[in-house]
Amino acid sequence: MTHTLPELPYAYDALEPYFDAKTMEIHHTKHHQTYIDKLNAAIRGNASLENYSATQLIGNLNEIPENIRTAVRNHGGGHVNHTFWWPTLKKDVKAKGPVVDAIAAEFGSFDKFKETFSNSAALLFGSGWAWLVFSGGKLSIATTANQDNPISNGQTPILGIDVWEHAYYLRYQNRRPEYITAFFNVINWEKVNELYLAATA
Ligand code: MN
Repeated sequence: MTHTLPELPYAYDALEPYFDAKTMEIHHTKHHQTYIDKLNAAIRGNASLENYSATQLIGNLNEIPENIRTAVRNHGGGHVNHTFWWPTLKKDVKAKGPVVDAIAAEFGSFDKFKETFSNSAALLFGSGWAWLVFSGGKLSIATTANQDNPISNGQTPILGIDVWEHAYYLRYQNRRPEYITAFFNVINWEKVNELYLAATA
């Protein structure tokens, strides 16, 4: 298959003022598109790999030919991560439901989870993602470098935050912690509940 850019389920300005429209537009049409273009270029002509979804590719990296493995890991990961992320963003959704109950049970309270998750995202050196994952029957926080995804480690992502500078630099410059605080205003808990229920089913 040729991988293509998914449409955002909202307008670029839908997450203002937390995530600005210009960042959202560039992030979607330039950064995400580039991961897709480079993934397609990497697997072009490899008939068996062309049959796999991007999620299948990054979930089976050891089966990817060595000469394109890094490209598939980086650009396939970039495609999977952003495709996962966009629908998990929505403004003014109340944090409630089974995943929020499970978070409170696992971390002691929702506020404690927020603090731990935010610290993990703030302290991640360089570019990468912080995640809430489901693995081994429980929720936990994970971080990945670059465009790696927890799927490659056998974990199921439930929630994530992109802490590449391209995700926040226009509005927040070097102030990553402010961007992380803003992120908690645009989490689509309806979608996160869906992901949690699917992971625990
Ligand atoms: Mn990004």
